[in-house]
Amino acid sequence: MTADILTTRHPFLDGKPKRMLIDGKWVEAASGKTFETINPSTGEILAAVAEGDAEDIDRAVAAARRAFQGPWSKFKPFERQALLLRLADLVEQHFDELAALDTLDMGAPIGRTRASRLRALGMLRYYAGQAVSILGETIENSLPGEYVSFTLKEPVGVVGAIIPWNSPLTATIWKIGPALATGCTVVLKPAEEAPLTPLRVAELCQEAGIPPGVVNVVPGYGETAGAALARHPDVDKVAFTGSHLTGQKIVEASAGNLKRVSLELGGKSPDVVFADADLETAVPGAGMAVFANSGQICSAGTRLFVERKIYDEFTARVASFGKTLRVGDSRDPETQVGPLVSAEQLDRVTGYLAIGRQEGARPLSGGERLTEGEMAKGYFVPPTVFADVKDEMRIAKEEIFGPVISAIPFTDIEEVIERSNRTHYGLGSGVWTRDVSKAHKLARGIRAGSVWINCYQAMDPAVPFGGYKMSGYGRESGKQHVEEYLNVKSVWIKTG
Ligand code: ADP
Repeated sequence: MTADILTTRHPFLDGKPKRMLIDGKWVEAASGKTFETINPSTGEILAAVAEGDAEDIDRAVAAARRAFQGPWSKFKPFERQALLLRLADLVEQHFDELAALDTLDMGAPIGRTRASRLRALGMLRYYAGQAVSILGETIENSLPGEYVSFTLKEPVGVVGAIIPWNSPLTATIWKIGPALATGCTVVLKPAEEAPLTPLRVAELCQEAGIPPGVVNVVPGYGETAGAALARHPDVDKVAFTGSHLTGQKIVEASAGNLKRVSLELGGKSPDVVFADADLETAVPGAGMAVFANSGQICSAGTRLFVERKIYDEFTARVASFGKTLRVGDSRDPETQVGPLVSAEQLDRVTGYLAIGRQEGARPLSGGERLTEGEMAKGYFVPPTVFADVKDEMRIAKEEIFGPVISAIPFTDIEEVIERSNRTHYGLGSGVWTRDVSKAHKLARGIRAGSVWINCYQAMDPAVPFGGYKMSGYGRESGKQHVEEYLNVKSVWIKTG
C-alpha cells in the first residue's frame, strides 16, 4: 500500500485541481486562479491548487466568525475532546498516505515523514486531553464587604494560522489542535510550497464531524492571502510560524485591531561540543542537528562550537559522517537527506555556499549542488561542513535553512556562552559533555527557548517549544500552548 502511494499516483492526487475549504464547502478561489505545487525531488507537478486571495480570506473569516458564535460555542469540553480523538484516529488510519503527501510535496525523506507518526498522533491526543483541562481560578480578595472573585478561561475567537512548508502535517496539527481544544475557530493558510497535506487534513476534519466553519483552509501566497489574514479586522489572533522578516510584517499588520500574535520564527542555534563529550554520539548528533530535513528546521544547530583541542578531529568526523548519508529522491526508503523544497531555496542555500568560500571558510565536505543523473531535476545539496568559520562571517550569523554546518572553535566555557548568545535569535541550542556542571551552566547561560543536552531536537507534545529574542514569542506544545488560545475573564459577585 505505502509503496503504491509513492510509486503510482497518490489517492489524493487525482489530477483534479484542489479546492479550498470554507464553511464546510470545497470551493474554488473567488478569482478562479490556481497555482501549481511540485515534487522537489523531480520537479514534477503534483497538483493545481486554488489560489486564495483577500476575498477568499474574507469569506473564510466570516465563516469562522459565524461558527465561533454559533453551535460551536455550545460544544462542551468532552465533545471537543471526542472530535480531537476522532480526528487522531482518522490521522492514524490515513497516516501512511499523509506521510507520503508530505514527502511528495516538500521533499522530506519518506523514512523521516513516517517516523513523525508518534509525534503527530501524540499531539492530537495531547490536545484532546487539554480540552478537558481548561481551568479558571477562585481568588481570595481583600475588599471590604462580601465579594467572590474568580476567573473564566474563554477561547480568543477566530484564529488566523499561517504555516511554513518544512513540516506540513505537524505544523497543521500544531495550529488546529489547540484551536479545537479551546473552542476557537481557524482559518489556516498553508505555505504555497506545500499546501497538500493541510488540505487532506481538512478533509479528515470534516470526516471527524468538526462543524462547518470551525476549520477553514485557504491556500495561496504569503503576500496576498497571508497578508490579508494577518491584517483582517475580524481575526482575533494570528498564530504564525516562519521567517523573522515575515514575523515582523505580521506584527505590523496585527496593529490595526491589536490582535493577539504568537510567533515561532527562525534561528541560528549554537551546538556546543566539549572535549569530554562522548564523541561516538556527539558526531552523528551534531551532524543530524543540521542535516535532518536538509537543514530545513528552524531550530537546527547550525553554529557548531567545538572545543579547540578536538576541533580538527571532531569537524573531520562530522564531515565524514555527512558523507555517509544517502542523498536522493525522498520517496526512496534508503534516503536520509532529500532535496531542498524549491528552486528558490536552492538558490538561497547555494548562494550561502559561495559566500562561505568567499569569506574564507573551508568546506570539509559538500559545498556544491548535486547534479549527477536524475538529481539534476531536483534541488539537492549534500551535507556540508565549513571549518575555520569566524563569528562575524555571514554563514555564522544568518539563517541558511540548508544542510550547512558552520564549525567554530572555542577554548573556554564563559567565552562559549557569550559567543553562543551573540545572535539576534534564541530558538534551540545543544550541549555535548559528560560534565554535569558544564551542562548545567550552559542550560542556564544560553538564551534560547530549548537546550538539548547530549541530544538534539527532542520534542514532545507536553514540552513547550518556542523562542527567545527574534526567534519569536509564545510557546507551542505543553500547557502553555492552549493558554495562547484563551482569554482570561475576571468575574466579581457581590454576595453581601
Ligand atoms: P519561508 O522563508 O520559510 O518560506 P516565510 O516566512 O516567507 O518563510 O513563509 C512562512 C509562511 O508565511 C508561508 O505560509 C507564507 O506564505 C507566509 N507569508 C509570507 N509572507 C507573508 C506576509 N507578508 N504576510 C503573511 N504571511 C506571509
